[in-house]
Amino acid sequence: MAFKSIRSRLTAWYILLLGLILILFSVFLNYFLSKRLYESVDNSLTVSATVVATSAVMKFNRSTLSGLDQIFEQFTGAGNLNKFYRIYDGSGNVGSRSNNIDASKFPLSQIAYADALKGANSYETFLVDGKFPIRVITMPILREKKLVNLVQVGTSLEAVQETLSNLRIFLFTAVPSVLVFATLFARFLARRALKPISKIIQTARDIGQGQELSQRIPVFKVQDELGQLALTFNEMMDRLENSFAQMRQFSSDASHELRTPLTVLQGQNELVLSKPRDPKEYQEVIISNLEEISYMSKVLEDLFVLSRSDENQILLNCKPMDLRDLVEEVCKHAEVLAGDKDISIVIAFLESVTINGDEVRLRQMVWNILHNGIKYTQPGGELKVSLLEEAGFALLSIQDTGIGIPEKDLPSIFDRFYRVDKARSRDEGGSGLGLSICKHIAEAHKGKIEVESKLGIGTRFKIRIPSTTSRGTNEHH
Ligand code: ADP
Repeated sequence: MAFKSIRSRLTAWYILLLGLILILFSVFLNYFLSKRLYESVDNSLTVSATVVATSAVMKFNRSTLSGLDQIFEQFTGAGNLNKFYRIYDGSGNVGSRSNNIDASKFPLSQIAYADALKGANSYETFLVDGKFPIRVITMPILREKKLVNLVQVGTSLEAVQETLSNLRIFLFTAVPSVLVFATLFARFLARRALKPISKIIQTARDIGQGQELSQRIPVFKVQDELGQLALTFNEMMDRLENSFAQMRQFSSDASHELRTPLTVLQGQNELVLSKPRDPKEYQEVIISNLEEISYMSKVLEDLFVLSRSDENQILLNCKPMDLRDLVEEVCKHAEVLAGDKDISIVIAFLESVTINGDEVRLRQMVWNILHNGIKYTQPGGELKVSLLEEAGFALLSIQDTGIGIPEKDLPSIFDRFYRVDKARSRDEGGSGLGLSICKHIAEAHKGKIEVESKLGIGTRFKIRIPSTTSRGTNEHH
């Protein structure tokens, strides 16, 4: 029979095992008890036969019957009703016998006689007419190795067989009752123990069907396996719920971010097409369209980088490189942009630091920070750049004298799409993705990025990337 549930399977195994143990126990009990009882019957027959034999010898020797009668008396007396004896002479003729039961109804078997001739006792069981068999000992009396007499003592096996049959009745009723009771108990226990599993199944099913990700399994006993399972399940749900929320937020932000330039594009194009215009006007609109398009491609590109980093798939093409060269080069590019805004870029200190890094990504990161510095600093301001090696890290610091970041916004500026002043930074062409990409790039290099800022005074970004410069190569500083 196939059991579908663990509960039935557990119960079935338990009952099978218990049944097997009880049956084995019963078989052994029956076997040893009957062996013991039959042995004790044989022992008592041996003792009785010895007494009769001794008396018989005395009788044949002295031709007096004194003492023997009392012994026979004892045989036939209360408590010994089932014992009887026969005495034969050497050739197998009956000399005397007790007359309490049908002592004549069983034979002196050939085997017993043959054993007696050899001087050995023999024990036999006969079924005469009654319900119960009779156990008989045949004991030889030898004199000078010659068989003089034979003593037979017999007894009914009624008591033994009744005891054994009572035992069997008891076992045949007790074992099944114990099994029935144990089945019920085992089912009850299994149901109780496995109850949390039904809860887990139910919750998982609810979540699967209703997408109710906030559901959790109640955990009662943390220590046991099911408690641990429920706990693990709940933790998994926490993570899932979190990443679902993040995904939802991300896609809604992304679509919102792309909707604005699309609306602008649509509006401009519809307007310009509403009536004939001269080529100059078309040109202006197309230029503006291109700006929006390039903004959208940048957002899409950034989103792509971020989505790959979410799956920990930022593939770095790392090789040993001097970070100083990279910083110098990016600063040169930034100077063009800064010059337009009358912002000066001051290189305070540039130490040669070898790191193992991805040039393209690192350039993107340094550019983002410098570009932000230029965007959020008023004309006439200054950007200070420094690079040095500190405690096994390349420490790049970019400090501006710009508008600063309010303290409450500081923890969030590395979040996606986070902008301190939405309107302003959109004008500057920022999507709010730049810093979160910087953070991912720094972390992908096993480094980190930090920010300090004072509103109205300036902002400082510190980036640390593990260096591979061997100690002592920079001693000239
Ligand atoms: P954005 O594309 O809007 O610049 P970022 O992720 O690069 O997005 O930056 C997030 C926000 O952090 C910006 O919108 C801006 O408000 C703030 N921020 C970044 N850099 C600076 C800076 N150097 N000075 C002041 N504010 C900054």
